[in-house]
Formats: sequence, structure tokens, C-alpha cells
Amino acid sequence: MLFDLDLIKKVYSELPTKVATARNMLGRPMTMSEKILYSHTFLPSKKPFGRGKDYVDFAPDRVAMQDATAQMALLQFDTCGRDKVAVPSTVHCDHLIQAKLGAKEDLSTAIDTNKEVYDFLSSISDKYGIGFWKPGAGIIHQVVLENYAFPGGMMIGTDSHTPNAGGLGMIAIGVGGADAVDVMAGLPWELKMPKLIGVKLTGKMSGWTAAKDVILKVAGILTVKGGTGAVVEYFGDGADSMSATGKATICNMGAEIGATCSLFTYDDKMAAYLKATGREEVAALANNVRDHLRPDKEVYTNPEKYFDQLIEINLSELEPHVNGPFTPDLATPISKMAEAVAANGWPDEIEVALIGSCTNSSYEDISRSASIAGQAKKKGLKTRSEFTVTPGSELVRFTIERDGYLGTFDEIGGVILANACGPCIGQWARHIDDPTRKNTIVTSFNRNFAKRNDGLASTHAFVASPEIVTAYAIAGRLSFNPLKDKLKNEKGEDVMLDEPKGYELPPSGFKVEDPGYQAPSASGKVEVIVKPDSQRLQLLAPFPAWEGTDLTGLRLLIKVKGKCTTDHISMAGPWLKYRGHLDNISNNMLIGAVNFFNNQTDSVKNQLTGEYGPVPATQRNYKSAGVGSVVVGDENYGEGSSREHAAIGATPFRSACHRCKELCTYP
Ligand code: SF4
Repeated sequence: MLFDLDLIKKVYSELPTKVATARNMLGRPMTMSEKILYSHTFLPSKKPFGRGKDYVDFAPDRVAMQDATAQMALLQFDTCGRDKVAVPSTVHCDHLIQAKLGAKEDLSTAIDTNKEVYDFLSSISDKYGIGFWKPGAGIIHQVVLENYAFPGGMMIGTDSHTPNAGGLGMIAIGVGGADAVDVMAGLPWELKMPKLIGVKLTGKMSGWTAAKDVILKVAGILTVKGGTGAVVEYFGDGADSMSATGKATICNMGAEIGATCSLFTYDDKMAAYLKATGREEVAALANNVRDHLRPDKEVYTNPEKYFDQLIEINLSELEPHVNGPFTPDLATPISKMAEAVAANGWPDEIEVALIGSCTNSSYEDISRSASIAGQAKKKGLKTRSEFTVTPGSELVRFTIERDGYLGTFDEIGGVILANACGPCIGQWARHIDDPTRKNTIVTSFNRNFAKRNDGLASTHAFVASPEIVTAYAIAGRLSFNPLKDKLKNEKGEDVMLDEPKGYELPPSGFKVEDPGYQAPSASGKVEVIVKPDSQRLQLLAPFPAWEGTDLTGLRLLIKVKGKCTTDHISMAGPWLKYRGHLDNISNNMLIGAVNFFNNQTDSVKNQLTGEYGPVPATQRNYKSAGVGSVVVGDENYGEGSSREHAAIGATPFRSACHRCKELCTYP
């Protein structure tokens, strides 16, 4: 589908002048990231911005929200008095679908369980001119890549893996819901001017190596903090030889190194993907301004002069990697995996292998993985692990079903899950006999922190490319190296898996019958549906303005000891369902934080009664007595995702955060 053509035309018509003005002001050649950033300032910039120093007001072109975070964002937007959103925006129903039995059954259960949330999101989207992607339509980042991302654009999204759109040359940044509200309300959006990390890719991938291995390697080099406050720009001949969806995989997982976002420079592969997804006109427009969608020539010649840090990777020499467990930056080349498994005592048996998600469910990923799965039957092999496939969108799912790939996975016992996040975000009713048993799973997802996929601290989750994960499903062992190891087939013969083969784009084109899109009502005369007695949704009233006086007479609610990230402040898990109900979700406020005075969680002294009790109950007691309170933070206060809930969760209590060693500011 073709959306936002007028917006894209406007961006491209202004781009040459804006880039030339910025280049004159800087007095030097520019990287692609700088071209996009300087052409998206809220007001024309009058001076160069200090990278990593100056805060800048930007004007993103669009906003995307997933269903878990969209609820609070849109409840806030509902209070701001606008008739329509100021920039094109979309909502995607992907996070609330639990994987249990398979696509059809799970989707139907989710539609039932989350009906009131979906009705609310659908009606409020309708009212304010927001595109609504129904449950089953696909995962936010895959749908954005297929329909909205365009080279040289800038977007924000209420999800950490929004940078996926960098695969089509877009600056795309994950933010909290309140940031989205600012942009949808037409206000400037503030960001510290990012530093720039350049990754020069040379050579060409072949055999078992996939785009995923680039980011697994980069994560190993930069670690989970190495990209903090920086845009990672990939360029070079190696970059130009990689499919747009492969590029998107790399940008998606840039979130795992803490990067503000990642992006590739515009090339023929992006143009081919735009054409294949019905956006030939966008490709033609981008080709007209091609020089402005790539770094200036001098940047290629002397990249070290223009980036704060430079990394070079030769794709011809890059080995497949397996990262984990428990952290995405523990990178092990596949040739060293058997050694690492033995040395670390990681469980060798793979219990579940999972491919797909927004990170790795492109046609290329699926066709290459299916080429491995297809060999199992031909060579007399069976899968030894449970095996699941999560398509990223209905467009991909319909096309890979038409082309027979879903059938291939089915033949080896693969379970096709709904086009949704499912196990990637812990929405997975995993069947396991003993949840305390140390066990191994491998996924082609992006995050592998403890408990991320199945809520079990005992699970060792490893991340690899979908083709390696498929080979693992067949071998059932983490120490297996498909590049050199043989497997025993049903006849007792030793056989090897051949290298994966696939297509970057479907030879017969993409096809879909119902993509799952609902356009907003033209009139906007829509009633927003929220039941007065709802336990999951609560309309917001505008917060009272500060009366202009100092806060006095406050009682200490909690003095936190050690880390106090968003997970300590506003836990996820069972609380996810209250994301649209401020009063209910406030009952998780600070229950994970350690009290400095007794080293316990969720046990604080009530200054009015002298008794110890849970943090939320104590605070509600203060509130009913008309007494305000204060929280004293410690380290990493407010760091993490879902900061908005961590920030506003205290509002029903009227608590103020006072002093922290490291306050993660929430704009
Ligand atoms: S599939 Fe995973 S990474 Fe992608 S949006 Fe969903 S939860 Fe996030």
C-alpha cells in the first residue's frame, strides 16, 4: 500500500536546500545521519550542534505505536484538545497476543481477551485520524517497513525496536508514549544531538552467514552500552550488497547496543524493496535526490574524520554467530560454540527453537530457513527440538504460505504462530515439565535477557540467524556446527545440511488478501469506547498544574537502595494488562525497589502510623490523609523502557522524586 505520498514529496522537495544550508553552516562534508537530522529540526538551525552535548528540537515526520504503549499515549492525547494528530500516526495490535496453541486459536483468544482494549484503540484511532492495524495484521516494525518507512525520513515509535526502519534509510527512534503525544500534538520533540558511530562493511556475505551475524558481531564489539547516545550509520560496498530487509534486521537489533538508532544509506536494494512493496513512486522520488540520501563522497574516503568511532567488518570473513545466554553482547562464532558450551556448562540440548519476529521474518529469512527445513525430509532427518515460526506480518505470512514455505515448516513439525510478538515479549504459554530445570532455547529474536521469552530464570536463551536456528531445531544440540558437523539420519547414515539458499524478494511478488488495515474515519465523529467500570482502561483528566509554591510537609515514601530502573518502578509481567488504567497500574509503583533502611522490597515505614507495609498501600494512606510524599532514588533511576508508566505511575499518589545518583531524565 502507498501511504503519505504528499508528505514524502514535501520532504524530498525541501531536502536539497536543507542539506546545502546545513553543509555550509558546518563547513564540511556530511554523513547521511547528519543530513536527516539537520533537515528535520523543528526550526531552521542557526548553528552547528555539539554531538553528545546540545539538546535539539526536532520535527519527526510520523509516529507509530504498539498496542501496549499506545493505550496510555492515546489517553494522554485525548486530553490535549486537538481534533486530529498533527503528523501521520499508526497503532499496531501485536503485543497482547499470547502464543500457546497456534496462529488461529491464539488470535481468536486474544481478540476475545483484549476486546475492550482493541475497541478503545480502534475507536480513538478513528477519532483522531490514526491508521489502525488490527490484531493479526503484523508486528509494528515489519508493518512500518512494508508500508511507511522511507529513505531520508524521521520517525518516532513507542517501542524500542523502532530503529528497524533504518533498513530503509530512515532515522527511526524508540521513545515513550509522552514523546509520541508531543509529536502528535504538533510540538517539538527534544533529543540530545547524537554522536555518530560509522560501521564500514566491505566484502560480501555467503553460505551460512546472514545479516543477523553483522549485528551479533557488532554487539560483541560494542557491548550493550557501546551505542548509547549514538546513531550507528552503516555504509560501504558490503552494505550496498545486502537486502533492505537484512539491513532492517541489523538496525532493529541496534537497540541491543543501546544505540539511539541505526541506519543504512540509500541504495538499489532499498529501491527494489520499495517497488516490491507497492511503493514504486517513492523509489522514483528517492532516486531523484539520491545524493542527499547518501553520505558525501569525502565521508567514504576518510570516514574516521567524520564519525566519533569507526568499526570495519569484512563480510567475506564473517562467521555465523550465536549470542547469549542472558545478554545479547556475549558473541560466540559458531566454530567456537561447542567449546563455549562445554566451558560454561550451558545446557547442550535445545528444547525449543523459534524463528521469526519483527527482527527476522522477511521473505529472505523465511525462504533461506525453509531451504534448511526442506532438507530434513529429503535427508531422512527429524527436528529434535520444538520449532515455532512467527511471521512478521500478514503480507509475509500470506506470501510464504502461497509459496509453500509454511507447508515445509509444517512437514517437520513446525508450529506457525500468530503474526504478533508472542514469545519475543514473554507472551508465551510455554509447556515445560519443570520450570526450575536449566534449559536452552534458541531464537532469531533480538533480546535474550533472563525471563524475557518465557518468564523463567532457568532458561538460557541464545540468539542466532533464522537459518542457524532452523539447523539447531534439526540437530537439537547447541554444540552443533552446521558448517562442518554431520547428523545421523533415520537409516543411520551420516549426512550434512547444505548451505541455505533463498530469495531476497518473492519471485512472484508479494500477495495479501486482507492486510488488516483500518483507515480512520474522515469525519472524526466517533465515540471513544471506554466502559466506566473497566479495569483495563481509564480516561485521564488533565493533571493539575503546579501551584507555583515549594513542596512542603512531604513524608518520605521510600529511600531506594541501588538500582531503580523502570522495572523496579513499574514492573511488567502481570501488570502489562493495566497499561491503559493509571490507577490500577499504580498499584505496582516501586514494588520492586529495595528500601534503604531494611533491605526489603515493597516494605516501607508509614510515617503516620509507624507500621511497615507495601509501598502503594502506604502511599494511598498518605493520600487519603491529604499528605504528600517524596521518593529518594539511587542509581539508574528511570532507566529502561516504558519510562512513561514509571514516570506518571506516581501521579495518582501525588509523589515527587527527589534525589538520585543517576536520574534518567524523561522528557
Ligand atoms: S517482535 Fe519482539 S522486538 Fe519485535 S516489536 Fe514485538 S516484542 Fe518488540
